[in-house]
Amino acid sequence: MNEEEIRPQKIFDEYLRLCANDTDRYFASAPRYEINCPACERKGEPAFEKNGFKYALCPDCQTLYVSPRPDASAFTLYYTEAPSVRYWATTFYQATAEARREKIWKHKARQLHEILGQQSLGSANIVDIGGGYGVFAEEMEKLSGVPVTIIEPGPDLAAVCRERNLKVVEKFLEDVNPSDLPNGKKLFTSFELFEHLHEPELFCKHLYSLMAPGDLFVFTTLSGTGLDIQVLWSNSKSVSPPHHLNFFNPISVNAFLQRVGFIDVRVTTPGKLDLDIMQNCMDQVEDRFWRTLLHRVNDQEKSQWQNMVASNGWSSHMMVQCMKPDTI
Ligand SMILES: [Zn+2]
Repeated sequence: MNEEEIRPQKIFDEYLRLCANDTDRYFASAPRYEINCPACERKGEPAFEKNGFKYALCPDCQTLYVSPRPDASAFTLYYTEAPSVRYWATTFYQATAEARREKIWKHKARQLHEILGQQSLGSANIVDIGGGYGVFAEEMEKLSGVPVTIIEPGPDLAAVCRERNLKVVEKFLEDVNPSDLPNGKKLFTSFELFEHLHEPELFCKHLYSLMAPGDLFVFTTLSGTGLDIQVLWSNSKSVSPPHHLNFFNPISVNAFLQRVGFIDVRVTTPGKLDLDIMQNCMDQVEDRFWRTLLHRVNDQEKSQWQNMVASNGWSSHMMVQCMKPDTI
């Protein structure tokens, strides 16, 4: 897999251009509040500014996050109507949905199916938060034979899921009630959503309250200590306000989830793209070692480096698994 297949540069660049316009329109005059580290609640230090947003870095757990943070109402309006959001939900998804099915979702569905097997949750109901086009849900249903429930607040995406005969709860997770969800054991999933959350703690506490003891939550997000983000830093395309507000990392996400009450937290970074992403942004790679290496590596060496980075927890693509404890 390479970056171009799942994130075609031309389409992604147009998306970034729309984002820059929207950022001005929806956030320039929004009230903003300083926040502490969303992972450990300590006071952060200024890191850099990008597209009119300031990022702070937690000196304790190295979580990178937007602070001062615009008021939640600005995000609600933005996610309901902004041109860049619609472009993402339509053009970008349409152009990449099938490539993503093959390169990402089939693999992810197999991984999740394995986790269910390990936890003896073979027939658990799956609830996918922010289900997008429903491709993961389709692949998961094929494997498990159990219908997937999608929680998707965006009207465009929710409609696409319904057309595919998937069960959709058209709400933000924070507004979901237990009666919206199927009975029985559940596995909650959410892919590439956590970095967008205005209040990760509120989200996780509400999710926790919806879960029954023994239910699992598995999610993917960006790790701020991952290779391409560390090297490219403020120039990383992943650092894209107003979308990506939180960059936790394997250590901070573990401590955070335990603070919320989850147990059996397992964090991996099964990313495949860090070196590819850096090679596609060579002008921004300032570090001499990585510049030299990225110029010289052949495909086999590149893949070996990527595997080493991923298997040691240093990729920017992070996968997290945790459980609500049985004994409460
Ligand atoms: Zn922290």
